[in-house]
Order: sequence, then structure tokens, then C-alpha cells
Amino acid sequence: MTFNRPYITGNEIQYLNKVLGSTKIAGNGKYTKKCQSYFVNKYGFKKALLTTSCTDALEMCAILANISSGDEVIMPSYTFVSTANAFLLRGAKIKFVDSREDHPGMNEDTIEANITDKTKAIVVVHYAGVAVDMDKVMSLANKYDLLVIEDAAQAIDSYYKDTPLGSIGHLSSFSFHETKNIISGEGGLLAINDGEFTQRSEIIWEKGTNRSAFFRGEVDKYGWVDIGSSFLPSELIASFLYAQLEQLVVIQSQRKKIWTQYFEFLKTLKNKVQLPNIPEYATNNAHMFYFVCSSIEERTALLSHLKEKNIYAVFHYQSLHKSEFFRNNNHKKLMPLSDRYSDCLVRLPFYIGLTDDEINYVAESVLEFYK
Ligand SMILES: *Cc1c(COP(=O)(O)O)cnc(C)c1O
Repeated sequence: MTFNRPYITGNEIQYLNKVLGSTKIAGNGKYTKKCQSYFVNKYGFKKALLTTSCTDALEMCAILANISSGDEVIMPSYTFVSTANAFLLRGAKIKFVDSREDHPGMNEDTIEANITDKTKAIVVVHYAGVAVDMDKVMSLANKYDLLVIEDAAQAIDSYYKDTPLGSIGHLSSFSFHETKNIISGEGGLLAINDGEFTQRSEIIWEKGTNRSAFFRGEVDKYGWVDIGSSFLPSELIASFLYAQLEQLVVIQSQRKKIWTQYFEFLKTLKNKVQLPNIPEYATNNAHMFYFVCSSIEERTALLSHLKEKNIYAVFHYQSLHKSEFFRNNNHKKLMPLSDRYSDCLVRLPFYIGLTDDEINYVAESVLEFYK
């Protein structure tokens, strides 16, 4: 049993064929606009721009935030490399913070101590699609006049209180990589919630030109007006994504069903492993099913036990502050919780199409290990 299997709704091929039969397969066409309107209408973003990845959307955030050499950006150590790389590429100094005791997400209470007069932004990561405590983060941002960027790569259709994730920070990014809930192979989204960034975002998106304004008839020629890059996906990707969006409700309900089945089987392990915790202010978008072993030795033994049974469970991030690339950066602070999740977190096979028997088999195999 593999860890992930991309779920294809069925309409992707039909929409791809429509694009192939049209005269427009480059970006910013009909399907791009349909996807972007869907996100704006459903989640209340001020503006939405499809990108070729969440990594690209994060790079756009760093440009929009005007990050330059020496600016400091606060983010969790327990995250994907792109969260950090996007800001490093613009010369930022990364200030990592540790995870929470009860959740791999960043400990909101440790952010303030890391704020200096050089701090420009806080990047939050909603791990497993479970919200960071955004009231705490936004009040710090207001107090110190900082930007908040949500790395919502895993957080599509998840909420903080009643507010969709990705609509709270000034800017946010989503991923449609084949391992996420909604996919287009590779793909992503930049959501803009602060009007200050709407105009510049589409210029950066279109290689630093005012091409979008030109196509709307707002200027009579287009040219080079800012820095930028080729961040927009082709219509082939957008059409695929649109088929997925049309099935979002079905996809989410099926994923939640699988998640709940795993949880019901495994909740008896609550004294042996750390089970996923959903704070009362957060929803669960069933992005993944993880739990945390009590040591790296236990995890290694569990993963090989499962592998013998042909079950490919996997671990996840390795603390970025200890990475080969970053560790010489004069980083002295210990991050024991991030290290614990690096060493001990396990993710079980999770994809639409897992049968009840397969879920049962995975769960029984885990229970057998702990017997
Ligand atoms: C998947 C992921 C990314 C990267 O997404 P891509 O679309 O592959 O660039 C970034 N951050 C987090 C937290 C992720 O889970």
C-alpha cells in the first residue's frame, strides 16, 4: 500500500481536451479565471492568483513584502524548505521558532520574544491543515506593525473559528501538489487579502509587466514596470485544477471519513502515542493522519513493522534549524519539540480510494505493534 495516490475526479480529461481544442493554452485564460473566481467567492480573498506551485506563491509573498538584505522573518523550524527558501532568496535572515507541545505547528507564545526592530514578517504554517492561533499572531502583527504570511499549503478548506485559512494574513499561499487535498500535479495559489498588494501582485506574476492591466484596457501598451518572474501556470494546469474544485465537497468529505476511521481505530493508543490534536478554534481538513511515537527507535521499528506488511507509512520534516544548509548560521537556540516531531512523527497511508478493509488493515497493524 503506497503512502499517497493522486485522486482524479474524472472531469480533468474533458477540461484538458477543451483547452487543447482551443486557441489558448498559455496562462491567464478562461480556466485560470474560473479557478481564481472560485477561490475569491468561496473563501473571501481580496484577490487570488494561480501559481505553478506554493513555492512560487511564497516567493511572490517575499517580493511583495519587499524583503531585503538583513530583514528578519519569523517562522517555524518544523516546516518544508520552501517556507524558508522563499525569504532567504530575497536576503532575509530567518528566525526559527519551536513547535507546540500538543501540535507540530509553531508555538505562538514564542513569537514575541523573537521580534526585533529588523523583523518584517511572521510566516505561519498551518501544519496538517490545522490552524495556528491566528488571533494571537494578528495581534502581535498589529502591535509591532508586521506582515503576516500564511503558508496554507496544506490548509485548503480549513478554518480558524469561522474564518477560512488563507484569508486572515496579509498574504497567503496554497499548494496543489499531488500530495495535497486538491491537486493539479504541481500547482499553487497566492491569496491577497490586503488591498495594498493587489495591483503589484499581478505585475510580479506577469514577469514584471503591466500586461494584465493592458488586457483589461486600462493602459494602451504594456511594458516593464517592476521586478517579477513567470509565476503563472498554463491553462492545462488550470483546467485540471478546475475539475478538482468542482469536486471539492466530495473530496473533503471522503478524506474526513478516512481520517475519522483511523482515529476511531487508534484512539485506544492515547497513552502510548501522541494523537492528532485539533484545538477548539480549528477545523480538521483531513490533509493527513499522523501520530507521534515516543522515540526515534520506536518509530524506526514501527515503520519497518509496517513495511513488512507492505504498508508504506512515512515520517515528515526534519527541523530546518539543524539542516545541513542552515545549521552553520550561528543558530544556537534549541528546538526540542521540532526535533521531537522530526524524530517521532509518523504519517499513515492517506488517499481517496483506500478501502475500509485497507484502513482496517493499516490500523490493526499499528495496534499489533503496540500490543
Ligand atoms: C507542500 C508544501 C509546500 C510546497 O508546495 P509546492 O506546491 O510543492 O511548492 C510548502 N509549504 C508547506 C507547508 C507544504 O506542505
